Order: sequence, then structure tokens, then C-alpha cells
Amino acid sequence: MKIVFIGPPGVGKGSQAKRLSADTLRPHISMGDMLRLQKMKKIQGGKSLGSFIDCGDLVPCEVVIKFLKDRIFKEDCRNGYYLDGFPRTLKQANVLDSILAEQGDFLDFAVEFYIPGTGNDLFERIMSRLSCSQCSETYSMKNRPPLREGFCDLCDAPLLRREDDTLSSFRKRMDIFKKWATPLLDYYKEKGILLRFNALNSIDETYADLLKGLGVQKE
Ligand code: AMP
Repeated sequence: MKIVFIGPPGVGKGSQAKRLSADTLRPHISMGDMLRLQKMKKIQGGKSLGSFIDCGDLVPCEVVIKFLKDRIFKEDCRNGYYLDGFPRTLKQANVLDSILAEQGDFLDFAVEFYIPGTGNDLFERIMSRLSCSQCSETYSMKNRPPLREGFCDLCDAPLLRREDDTLSSFRKRMDIFKKWATPLLDYYKEKGILLRFNALNSIDETYADLLKGLGVQKE
């Protein structure tokens, strides 16, 4: 099963995709995580990935496509994968579809997480977010605190705030999401593969909705 996860910053799509990955044994592929890992490397005539990521701008399309191709053709992706943070634009969605079509393949679902209303609490969620410096596991001081304060439950490495979790970067990411989300979501709606989930509920409730929507039975 191949699924793309779409939603505004802080909505919790990464946490849901990770959980589904652990329960169904298919890789969770976070474009943001891959880019952050490579952040120090220079691209585009000296402009670093960090200069896009830290201020909340989109990394150029050709760069993310390269990361995508390098990852989804790996052996562990043979039975599917969950793409988190890709595609973000209609152009990226078209590229993904052509890559899949070349292999006689297709996307099963596009999953959208949304927060009804103004979405004001997204920034609050972002500000309470901490990520593991080693394995990228994400915690929320509000909804999912680590067992030992400041350290990852899974690998015991220190937890850090993401460098792009600032008000200005959040605003930029929201603007970009608002600009690109409608055509992207319309595209998947027209294909009949869009599933929408209200992410205002607890992480567990949202996850239960997701499993039901996908028709996945938890072992
Ligand atoms: P995320 O971890 O999904 O919040 O992504 C963090 C940052 O990585 C974004 O603000 C962008 O700078 C960059 N990024 C992630 N995914 C993409 C994408 N599909 N296209 C362009 N830039 C991306």
C-alpha cells in the first residue's frame, strides 16, 4: 500500500504515519527528515538546504525529487510506503504519479489531516513539539511527553526543538500550505483516492479513524 500524508504544519501527520508504519511494517518516509539529515550539504551554487528549511521555504523541486527517487526504489519499499511531507505541490504530485506509472504502479490513498476552524492551535502544537536528535521520534510536551524529561523513550538520545519551529517559519509554512494545498487535494479528490481525517481529536482517536478509513486491521 502506497500512501501520501498531507496536512498543515503541526497537524500530526508524521506521528500518524510513523505509527502506521510500525503497525503495518512498511517504511515511513519523511521528506523533512531526509532533508534535515542532508542540511549541511551545499546545493544550488552554494545555497544550502538549511537556507530553505530554516525559514520554512520549499526546497527546490528537483532536489526533493532526487531524494524521493533515491528512497522509494530501495528494497524495503517493495510492498509500499508512507510518504510524509511529499508531495506538497501539484507539480510534485504529477512527478510522483509519472514515476509510479513508469513502474506500472499507482498510489493507493492520499490521506489529509485537517483541523476544523482557524487552526490556531497548530502553532501551540508546534511549540510543544520536541524531536529526538538521533532517531527523529517526535514528542509533544502537551499530548505525548517523553517518559524521562528531555530524552527519547526509544533511544535515550537528547530531545531538541526543530530549528524551523519558530513563529516566522511556521507562518511561512502555513502560507505555503494554504497556497498549494487546494489544487493538490483537488487532484487526489478527482482521482477518488482522498481520505480526510479530523486531527483535532486525540492522537489515539485520530489513529483509530485512520485505520478504519484505510480498512487496516491492527494485529
Ligand atoms: P516537514 O518536516 O515536513 O515539516 O518539512 C520541513 C521542511 O523541509 C519544509 O518546511 C521544507 O523546507 C522542506 N520540505 C519538506 N518536504 C518538502 C517538499 N515535498 N518539497 C519541498 N520542500 C520540502
